[in-house]
Formats: sequence, structure tokens, C-alpha cells
Amino acid sequence: MAKRSATHKIPDVEPVAPAITPPEHPADTTFVKNSIGENKGRKREIPEGLWKKCPKCAEMLYEKKLDENLAVCTKCGHHFKIGARLRIDALVNDGSFEEYDAEMVSVDILKFTGVATYTSKLEGYVKKTGLKDAVFTGCAEIGDHKVGLGVMDFRFLGGSMGSVVGEKLTRMIERSTEAGQPVIIISTSGGARMYEGMFSLMQMAKTCAALAYHGKRGLPYISVLTDPTTAGVMASYASVGDLIIAEPAAMIGFAGPRVIKDTTQAELPPGFQTAEFLKERGLIDAIVPRLEMKERLATYLDFLMAAKS
Ligand SMILES: [Zn+2]
Repeated sequence: MAKRSATHKIPDVEPVAPAITPPEHPADTTFVKNSIGENKGRKREIPEGLWKKCPKCAEMLYEKKLDENLAVCTKCGHHFKIGARLRIDALVNDGSFEEYDAEMVSVDILKFTGVATYTSKLEGYVKKTGLKDAVFTGCAEIGDHKVGLGVMDFRFLGGSMGSVVGEKLTRMIERSTEAGQPVIIISTSGGARMYEGMFSLMQMAKTCAALAYHGKRGLPYISVLTDPTTAGVMASYASVGDLIIAEPAAMIGFAGPRVIKDTTQAELPPGFQTAEFLKERGLIDAIVPRLEMKERLATYLDFLMAAKS
């Protein structure tokens, strides 16, 4: 498994693939190295953010080591959430990612105001995450194949799908259809973005229609579900893959367990809404650990593209 991880470069320390939008915020810097001797003479302290506690096995993990292991606990294999940039860097052949529609940003079409306005929310998340919205799209090489790639980022408004997420994915799918390329979408999402109301919901139909045309050309689509993938995203493009694979222990579902329990008035079985539970029942085809993801996707593409030709 995953010899690649030992040599994996941490994005933003080493230069990442040049075509990826450069990070604009320190939140995307996974590790900042102090210059030698900088702490000399000072009382020794554990700098904040250098260690992370695994929520599953309680092991204290050195963040640099954790990053090198693609944020998978080295003791128990727990998969921490990771950002889209790190994921792209780990998945595609070095330097092969070409981003589409990098400048597309959301607008407050409904003039939505709740506790805060949608505009102020957007501004806050752009500043906090250094991202422009909740998805990166582009094309890249994985193994021997050129693919259309969409990768969501949960940090931006809970990976919610608004018009930008829907439009960027749809354009990427349409470009892939035209170019005769397979599509891979890596999802993580709390669902449709409520601040855009109906416009968010329309993205469900739009993305699925684009995928249907892609499928009509005999081109494969692989959907990768990561923790968590729920609601409107799960109910649209995330669940219509020719192959649907998931990371271990990812939470996957439509409504939350409490809502389902209240609605059905039934006890939910143990492990409900985990990737493993859904694989056993046939919704998911395979559980693939993050460190094996690149090789496995390359193999699946070999198989699916050979079947096509
Ligand atoms: Zn652990």
C-alpha cells in the first residue's frame, strides 16, 4: 500500500502544480517551518498547531507527519478531512492539473439575510479559507488517462452546492464530454446552499443532465464520496456514478439521523449512514483508503476506458 506517501510533497511548502490557483491565505499552508535557531534561548514550548489529537484513537500526531500521510492517522487509519488542494496534489500526476473557471464567484441573487447576509458570509469564507467557492474543477492526468476532475472543499460554507459549484461542475462535465474524457468528482458536502434557495436546487438537475449526456457518449463517471457527503449533493451527482467509491468511515446520507429517526419513529441500525454500511447494501461499490486512491482510480480508469473502446 501507498509507497507514494513517503515521498509525497506537502503543498505550499514545495511548489505545487503550477496550474492550481496559488493559495491566498495561511489556512492553506499545512506546515510553516521556522528558520534554524529561531527559538534558541527561549523556553521550550509546544507550538500551537504542531500536534493534532486523533479523535478515534486519541494518539497525538505530529502535523508534519500527518500531512505526509495525507491526513490519515498513522496509528488507527482515521481519515481527517482534507482540503481540495491537498487532495488534487495527492491524486493527479505531478503538475498535470489545469484549472477551469478559477475566477468564478457566487453572487447574492436573492439578497438573502438571516443572522448575517449571504454577501458577508461569502466574504468571510473567502477570507478564512483562501478559496473562492466550494469546488475546484479542471482536467488532469491520473495514471495513463486524461480526466475531467471536480474536487469539493468542505471548509467553504460546509461544501454547500450553490450556483457556482453547479456551474463549474457542469462546465467541466461538458468539456469532458466534448473531449471524450472520463469524469471523476470527489464530493464532500452538507448539501444545497440555502442562501441561494431554488437556484441551488436547480444545480441538482443541471449537473445530472450533463452527466447523462456524458454517459450517452459511453464515457465513464467515477463518484468518490468523502466524509461527509449528504443531502442535495448525495441526491444528485454524487450518487449517479458508474462507479461509486468512498473513503473509509465516511458519513454518507441524505437527511441527518435525528430527522430520519423522528420521521420514521424507528430505531436506526448501528453504523447507519457510514460508507461501510452502504457498501454492504449495494449503494457503494468499494471502500478505498485515501493512500491507495490514486492507484485505484488509475486501475478503474484502465478498466472502464478499455471497456469503452
Ligand atoms: Zn488514530
